[in-house]
Amino acid sequence: MTVFEPGLPTPVADTTIPVLRILGRNPGPMTGPGTNSYLIGCERLCLIDPGPINDLQLDNFLTAIGGTGLEYILVTHTHGDHSPASIPLRDATGAELIGMAAPEVEGNDKSFIPNRLWQHGDVLDCGEYSIKLLHTPGHVSNHICFLLEQEKLLFTGDHVLQGTTSVILPPDGDMGAYLDSLRYLQTLELSYLAPGHGDIMGRPQEELKNLITHRLNREQKVVDCLLQLGPSEMDSLVLSVYDDVATHLIPWAKRTLLAHLIKLEREGRVTLESNLYVLTKEDE
Ligand SMILES: [Zn+2]
Repeated sequence: MTVFEPGLPTPVADTTIPVLRILGRNPGPMTGPGTNSYLIGCERLCLIDPGPINDLQLDNFLTAIGGTGLEYILVTHTHGDHSPASIPLRDATGAELIGMAAPEVEGNDKSFIPNRLWQHGDVLDCGEYSIKLLHTPGHVSNHICFLLEQEKLLFTGDHVLQGTTSVILPPDGDMGAYLDSLRYLQTLELSYLAPGHGDIMGRPQEELKNLITHRLNREQKVVDCLLQLGPSEMDSLVLSVYDDVATHLIPWAKRTLLAHLIKLEREGRVTLESNLYVLTKEDE
C-alpha cells in the first residue's frame, strides 16, 4: 500500500496522461487524511482543488509544477478545505480559475470567483487531454465533478469520498439532488474515481451503487424510526437513526438527517407539525 506524505506528488492509477495526487496538510475528522489535490498533464497543466491556504503546500505545488507553468486551477466546490488556496496559487502562476462561484450561504469561500461562467457539459480543452465539467449538486449546489475524458477518470471532490461519507448540508445541500447526481454518474463509462478525500477507487460502478444503497437504507431507517417512535423531534430522532455514529459526529449527522427529512417532506411521506416530524399515512 502506498503511503502518502503531505505535499509529495504521487502518481495515481495506471494512466497515459500523468495524474499526480498531492495530499494536503489538513487531516481531521471531516477531511480524513487531508484534501487531495491533483496535478494533471505533461505540457499543459491543471491542478484540481488546491485546498486550504498553507505556505508549505503552496511551495510543494510550485515545485511539482516546475518550469512548465500552470494553466488552470479547477475547483470542485467552494468549501474551505477545497478552494481557498486557489487565490495564492493563481497569484503565483497566473493560472485561470475554473469552477462555479460560491452560493450565498455560510461556510463557502466567496474569494473564489471564476473568470468565465461554466455549465454542465462544458469541456476544457488542454491539447493533450480534455476535461468535462459535470455539475453534480447535492453535497453543495455548486459542486462539479471533473472527467478526464481520455482516461475515463472522474475527480469526484466531495460528491464521492473514500473512507468517509459525504455530509449533505441543507439548505444548499440537497439529498434528492445528491441521489440524482449519483444516478447520473451511473450512466457514464468510468475507469477510476479520484475523490477529494481518501484513496483512488478502481470500481466506480460498484462504489456508486453502494453509495445509493447506503443513502436509501438510511432513508428507510428514518421512516422505520418514525414508525417506531411516533411523531419525533429532531434531537431524539437523530440518536435512533444514527445509533451507529460516534457521538462527536452527531451534530453533522443531524444536518444530514435534516436533508433526508426535507427529501421525504418533498415526496409527501413526512410532514413537520410544530417541532415534530410525522409520517404521512402511506408509510405507516
Ligand atoms: Zn465539501
